[in-house]
Amino acid sequence: MNNTFRAQCQCGQLAVSFAHAPVAQLVCHCRDCQTISGLPYANVAFFKTEERCAQGQFKAIDMKGGSGKPKQYRRCSKCNDFVYATVDVLTGLLGVAADKLGPPYEFKPMAHVWTSEKAPEVEIPSGVFQFPKAPPFRPGKQ
Ligand SMILES: [Zn+2]
Ligand SMILES: [Zn+2]
Repeated sequence: MNNTFRAQCQCGQLAVSFAHAPVAQLVCHCRDCQTISGLPYANVAFFKTEERCAQGQFKAIDMKGGSGKPKQYRRCSKCNDFVYATVDVLTGLLGVAADKLGPPYEFKPMAHVWTSEKAPEVEIPSGVFQFPKAPPFRPGKQ
């Protein structure tokens, strides 16, 4: 895999890569992301699924998104690290754990979403877009 944008788990077994920069970046405060990432929120970069080059074995965790549409989180089958998720409502996009992406990638979120489920200790910086639930726009479509 020689795509520029590459995310991988701690042990390196599960990886996904893309040729082009993400089409959207969000900080998600929903409970599912909290559960899966083990953190109070998840930094997510959305890439075009069609550009995906994936390798390694994953464990799939099926969930239902806020819209009622299925989503599937994928963790490394060896080290259990969460690397990416497929979200049915976001057809054509893949949500990748931004902290798993190496340089030259830089996380620059355009909004904080699902702030209604935000962990109490988390402070959202002022001057950023916030949405209590899913954003009113579809990432990647202007
Ligand atoms: Zn791993
Ligand atoms: Zn979430």
